[in-house]
Amino acid sequence: MSSRYDILFHPIKIGPVTAPNRFYQVPHCNGFGWRMPQGMAAMRGMKAEGGWGVVCTEETEIHYTSDLSPYFEGRIWDDADIPVWQLMTDAVHKHGALAGIELTYNSHDAANLYSRAAAFAPHSMGITGGGGYEPGQARVATKDDLKQVRKWHRNAAIRAKKAGFDIIYCYAAHNMTLAFHLLSKDNDRSDEYGGSLENRVRFFRELIEDTKEAVGDTCAVAVRFAVDELLGADGMQHDGEARDIVGMLAELPDLWDVNISAWKNDSITSRFGKEGHQEKYISFVKQLTTKPVVGVGRYTSPDSMVSAIERGVMDLIGAARPSIADPFLPNKIREGRHEDIRECIGCNICVTGDTRFVPIRCTQNPTMGEEFRRDWHPEIIAPKKSNDDILIVGAGPAGLEAARALGQRGYKVILTDAQREAGGRVLLESALPNLIEWRRVIDWRLTQIQKIENIYFYPSSPMTAKDVLDADAPHVILATGATWRRDGVGRYHSCPIQGTGNIFTPDDLMNGKLPTGKVIIYDDDHYYMGGVLAELLATNGCEVTLVTPAPTISAWTEYTLEQDRIYKRLLALNVTLLPHHALASHSPTTASVTQTFTSAETTLACDAIVLVTDRIPNDSLYHELKPALADGRLKSLRLIGDAEAPNIIAQAVFAGHLAAREFDETINPDVTPFKVERVITVKK
Ligand code: ADP
Ligand code: SF4
Repeated sequence: MSSRYDILFHPIKIGPVTAPNRFYQVPHCNGFGWRMPQGMAAMRGMKAEGGWGVVCTEETEIHYTSDLSPYFEGRIWDDADIPVWQLMTDAVHKHGALAGIELTYNSHDAANLYSRAAAFAPHSMGITGGGGYEPGQARVATKDDLKQVRKWHRNAAIRAKKAGFDIIYCYAAHNMTLAFHLLSKDNDRSDEYGGSLENRVRFFRELIEDTKEAVGDTCAVAVRFAVDELLGADGMQHDGEARDIVGMLAELPDLWDVNISAWKNDSITSRFGKEGHQEKYISFVKQLTTKPVVGVGRYTSPDSMVSAIERGVMDLIGAARPSIADPFLPNKIREGRHEDIRECIGCNICVTGDTRFVPIRCTQNPTMGEEFRRDWHPEIIAPKKSNDDILIVGAGPAGLEAARALGQRGYKVILTDAQREAGGRVLLESALPNLIEWRRVIDWRLTQIQKIENIYFYPSSPMTAKDVLDADAPHVILATGATWRRDGVGRYHSCPIQGTGNIFTPDDLMNGKLPTGKVIIYDDDHYYMGGVLAELLATNGCEVTLVTPAPTISAWTEYTLEQDRIYKRLLALNVTLLPHHALASHSPTTASVTQTFTSAETTLACDAIVLVTDRIPNDSLYHELKPALADGRLKSLRLIGDAEAPNIIAQAVFAGHLAAREFDETINPDVTPFKVERVITVKK
């Protein structure tokens, strides 16, 4: 039967290869990199299984002088790397998808901490990679160096073809590559690679021509180009030079993959940017080329995807995050199961796999990154092993996911929550400024739960230990969450902060009890909560000072690529920012803060203080029920999520999923419960 979405499933020719549909997983980091190739390959293979027609690598270093350590990205330095990539291309081809590789030579973004080589750049300039403040500079690339880089790129392309890739990238985006820097303001050369635009384009053109000549008979050659850096006249602009560059190279590559730079702009979080946010920058490209164009914009709605194609913005729907949150998104659209799409919430926890050097994880998809090491499949789970009933107390992210996954296994699940509405912390947090998309964590799970007839949800049902035992379920899972502390104990203070001040916690604010007047927010949590509450109160007319012992505001949001925007927003709202200070004591009209290095004390006038410090796990029910486990009235009792150990929402969802997978299994605590990729040293 034909449908409005058929266009998404039309094959499309990309040079000498054909993509089976319009779903294109653009290159994205994953934290596995070259270090954990089996984890990486299984994750990519899962995307192909879920219907993505093209599945790409992350940026892949072509030579040791472009070493991206301490980050773990791809490597194709020499022939010894080919078997690693064959793991991925085999996994992708098995499901009929094309495999793409993003070759990169990273200029002054390569810190070369491992290889200890000098990086090449348009001129000798400070290294920006490796976290941003690595001491040391890149060397100026001579004309001979540029020739070398072309040779290395060509050799890497030939290796990539041998490894089975169908699409080979020339990469000039994300403020990272040498090609990009030669195109941009960093290029002050006076030879034929500098000066006029034609000269600055020369190197990129040569890379594309070399790659086509080397592998273009059987492989498509794609270009990834950032058409805007959102720096105004100080950077590349979509209505400036970027237009001329696309015009000059229009028909040379087989595919244009266009986006905006830097990564924080490309992968903007939902707090700061919505679906389709790149369209206004990239839509000109299709007017200048007949070659297929792919773009991104965190598209999760099939209607938006069809619209983007019909309006002539792009030919293929590019996605990194939507493919992470739901590797089976294309298949679900094909099968008309739109309500089953696990929509990305735009939180960028996936990005922290790369920025914290660990395998990728996702708030919405607890199986992401676990495909190889735990053999987890996002759509399939083992059937039940017994007919025992399970009672789950608490319908926050942990309880909802545990109920959903146990229900999917076929168990009879009784889920209760004290509140009238499911969602726990996510219900409250998604009502904070600009976090509404986080509700998708609840919505997707409730939609699934409603479809599973063996799950029974009882809202408005606060449970005591007696209620739990009276329910007569042999197995109990407690997902009762956590409560923000009211005494200031946290990372900085191990004892309560003394005083008589007017104290509020995030729970108070989220439940509608708001302070007025001069408010001090003391943030010893360091993720989004302190900054979001400052935004809420400043918008409500409070005079807000945000105090934190950390060196920066909302310090951990650096890893989700949000910190710059948080600063900008808080400064625009006239929030006073006071890093490197700890709250020492308080009174109804003052707060005393100390400088963390010098202990110098300052007294600030205030009407109220909001403490964003540690949380107390709500585990009293667990302790009350333990005797029932000991005397055999319960067969099992498990504490999960924030009630066990307060953490981010992604961890609560993961804990719920893990509890469902491990149910009815014997777990040996002495054995590592997942496969570990190890480097084996062979004795001669
Ligand atoms: P998590 O992030 O671990 O899922 P949340 O704090 O989001 O934790 O959710 C915990 C949920 O548990 C809340 O919705 C809360 O109303 C519910 N809850 C806590 N204690 C009880 C209880 N004794 N009976 C029923 N529901 C409870
Ligand atoms: Fe989307 Fe968040 Fe998952 Fe990343 S971690 S894919 S942003 S839901």
